[in-house]
Amino acid sequence: MTNKEFVVFGLGRFGKSVATTLADSGCEVLVVDDNEDKIQEMADIVTYAVKANVTDVDTMETLGISNFDGAIVAIGENLEASVMVTILAKELGIPYVLAKAQNDLHAKILKKVGADMVVFPEKETGIRIANKLLLGNFFDAVELSSTFSMMEIEALTEWNGHSLRELNLRAKYKVNVIGIKKNGVLDINTDADSPVSKNDILVMIGKNETLNKLASMHSK
Ligand code: ATP
Repeated sequence: MTNKEFVVFGLGRFGKSVATTLADSGCEVLVVDDNEDKIQEMADIVTYAVKANVTDVDTMETLGISNFDGAIVAIGENLEASVMVTILAKELGIPYVLAKAQNDLHAKILKKVGADMVVFPEKETGIRIANKLLLGNFFDAVELSSTFSMMEIEALTEWNGHSLRELNLRAKYKVNVIGIKKNGVLDINTDADSPVSKNDILVMIGKNETLNKLASMHSK
């Protein structure tokens, strides 16, 4: 199997971080930026580093990126460059183009011109960090989106001796229990009729606010 190939346009903090992570994971990575210093900085980290203006269509067409698996448009400030390179990447046939937006209007434009995914790195990181602060360090949590997480919640005292069927957590809290850890061993084939013990850890998927509420009920 050949390694996946990605092109990253723009080497701001976001572009650099995406390019470095992809390269560290064994992907073939081409980076493009019109700033010589940024290109030099990445030359030893990625497969190819090319100094070019992304609005220069002729140069972009010579990069040979049409068979790449994905493009990351990591140019925020320069709206024209961000939009142009998104259009170009799609026209060249790149199946997945992820673009960074500065604001909602920028995001709308990027979607209209064909971006498959639009991200707001600073906003999304802020939400993720706030959620992590809210979730605290008591329980393990995996963020599934900005709204939903999978989280370990220790059984509330009042759940002791009741089965999942009786507790009916899905109806009561709109959470799904996907497994139960007993004495540190996770069982994902949970029997809805087995009683939950107060030391059990329930692995749940649900809305962050609901999971936070359940976690705080436990720590009271
Ligand atoms: P970050 O927040 O990720 O640090 P930023 O929003 O501060 O990024 P941008 O202004 O979006 O930075 O620029 C990101 C990179 O894109 C810069 O390294 C810049 O040199 C590069 N860049 C901007 N316009 C072009 C262009 N037309 N062609 C090539 N590279 C460009």
